[in-house]
Amino acid sequence: MKRVYNFSPGPSMLPLPVLERAAAEMTDTNGTGQSVMEMSHRSADFKPIIEKTEGLLRSLMGIPSNYRVLFLQGGASLQFSMVPLNLAGSAAGQARKKAAYIDTGVWAKKAAEEGAKFVDAELRASSADRSYTYIPEAPAPKPDDAFYHITPNNTIVGTRWAALPETGTVPLVADISSCILSEELDVSRFGILYAGAQKNLGPAGTTVVIIREDLIGKAPPQTPAMLRYDIHAKELSMYNTPPCYGIYIIGLVLEWIQEKGGAKALEELNREKAALLYAYLEQSRLFRSPVEKPFRSMMNIPFVGVEPDPELDKRFVREAAEAGLVNLAGHRLVGGMRASIYNAMPKAGVEALVKFMEQFEKKFEKGFGKGK
Ligand SMILES: *Cc1c(COP(=O)(O)O)cnc(C)c1O
Repeated sequence: MKRVYNFSPGPSMLPLPVLERAAAEMTDTNGTGQSVMEMSHRSADFKPIIEKTEGLLRSLMGIPSNYRVLFLQGGASLQFSMVPLNLAGSAAGQARKKAAYIDTGVWAKKAAEEGAKFVDAELRASSADRSYTYIPEAPAPKPDDAFYHITPNNTIVGTRWAALPETGTVPLVADISSCILSEELDVSRFGILYAGAQKNLGPAGTTVVIIREDLIGKAPPQTPAMLRYDIHAKELSMYNTPPCYGIYIIGLVLEWIQEKGGAKALEELNREKAALLYAYLEQSRLFRSPVEKPFRSMMNIPFVGVEPDPELDKRFVREAAEAGLVNLAGHRLVGGMRASIYNAMPKAGVEALVKFMEQFEKKFEKGFGKGK
């Protein structure tokens, strides 16, 4: 069997034991004689699967009982619309409400741009002035803000909020697509948390929404049914057919996380993994991290040439792939390289990457043999 270390930002690696179990159960799950893909979502066979997945997510994230968990579709991107629509959408003839957004990169900005279709989306702080390489000071909310939106881990630029803003009674809303369950998180600090599953949680196609109960039921009457939290909550994520197979795989991933020791244990491991790569970058003469130190992500680690050289970057990405270290090209907006090292990336994968980088740097210093 060939398995590579896949540093893709998403969809990304899944734990091998999860894939092996899914393969073993593919044609007959839990003695039902069916694949989960073939099950009616309303059947007694599927019910324990979605209940198990929700139960595990609740216990692993410590989700309080006054929060609901929804398994939806449309990716994190649809939440860019659902959040403002449900929390602050205005009925016909009503004045628009306003909401605070902090611009920390591409996804954060997209959330605000989409939000602006439904509310007065005010960018209260931005790190665009230094190419998003830091997290700006977060100002206090205004008392009439409908919500306050942040992106705790910025997948493309590789920054992370080291501390959460204090928003008092204004609901804090966070897009945790690329950091869910990568570290401990106090859910009670938030009004809504949402995440596309394809980075840290499972396959693409499922979006997890964790929402405080008092925020459900505020959507204006013209809101389409599929975009209403109250309907999805009332119907237990089964207003229509949910992404059944994705929910099942998320359940297997959560079981794997539980076996690993939960969010706290993963946080320690993720810290070690990230430290290995940052330590190498600190002393490298060839590569460096473009991100300011206090704001460096544990999940997405971009690196660029000390002397920018797109040809050298291409060579690095190509030779790394030949060595079984794939998907290391940086985002087109940032350039250079990026290693996404989510929960499922083993420490051995990061060690292999660092070793490859050391060897590449040595070869570079010798001019790659006669080539240069
Ligand atoms: C990947 C990503 C998105 C987009 O997710 P989709 O599920 O593709 O819509 C949004 N926000 C963040 C932080 C991401 O990393």
